[in-house]
Amino acid sequence: MRRALVCFFLAAATVLAQGNPDWHAEFPAFKIAGNLYYVGTADLAVYLINTPQGNILINSDFKQDLPVIKKSIEQLGFKYSDTKIVLISHAHGDHDEGTGVIKQETGAKLMVMDADVAAEQSTASGRPGAQVDRVLHDGATVELGGARLVAHLTPGHTPGCTTWTMQVQDGTRKLNAVIIGSPNVNPGYILVGNKNYPRIAEDYAKGFAVLKSLPCDLFLGAHSAYFGLKAKYEKMKTGSKDAFVDPDGYKAYVAERDDTFRKEWERQKHNPGSAAQ
Ligand SMILES: [Zn+2]
Repeated sequence: MRRALVCFFLAAATVLAQGNPDWHAEFPAFKIAGNLYYVGTADLAVYLINTPQGNILINSDFKQDLPVIKKSIEQLGFKYSDTKIVLISHAHGDHDEGTGVIKQETGAKLMVMDADVAAEQSTASGRPGAQVDRVLHDGATVELGGARLVAHLTPGHTPGCTTWTMQVQDGTRKLNAVIIGSPNVNPGYILVGNKNYPRIAEDYAKGFAVLKSLPCDLFLGAHSAYFGLKAKYEKMKTGSKDAFVDPDGYKAYVAERDDTFRKEWERQKHNPGSAAQ
């Protein structure tokens, strides 16, 4: 059952791996707020949390994107070799393919939500696989040098899909950052009668309930398209200190994705055996 489940998700990820030019396009590294930085590509988000005891990275992107990420880290004046912990949004190649290389090169510890550990470590379907050092459970905290992140299980997109939250001290204000794992029903996903993941639709519903419950000031996610990175970055460049503070945008995005999921779930209930387009 577990192997079938892993294969189902790896196949789904492979279908998606055909690409989007923004996935591998460079994007300027920048400070989002406080000790939270953006070091990803134009669409595949990677976050760096800087602490006096080293850095945390959320997501590695594909292996081919690692040179861009390393360059971004160094451009901000940090050291790639100071990476102590690697986290992921979920176990799909666009967010985790490089984790094994980062571990090897920096000695960082990889921490992954329980239900995504099998996929993370799998070497099926050409995946490199990476050994998980700490298995996380819903609500687990990851702490380093005064930074504290919370892992929220928001399942459906993968069984262990994780939304990360942290409080960022930005000058005199405290901002709640939410990094959405993924709210999306990908093409090919089966929500009704899915033998490999029978509870998938109920999991999505659970995930949306969690997303709706999270206090959010800084709206972020695994893909920068979720939160409109380019437009917000331009706004920031023209002097806005609050470009990424977008609680209303967060609420609207989650509500729209929830609605899209529910419509697709209804559609599949009335069309047994069909998959998402
Ligand atoms: Zn994914």
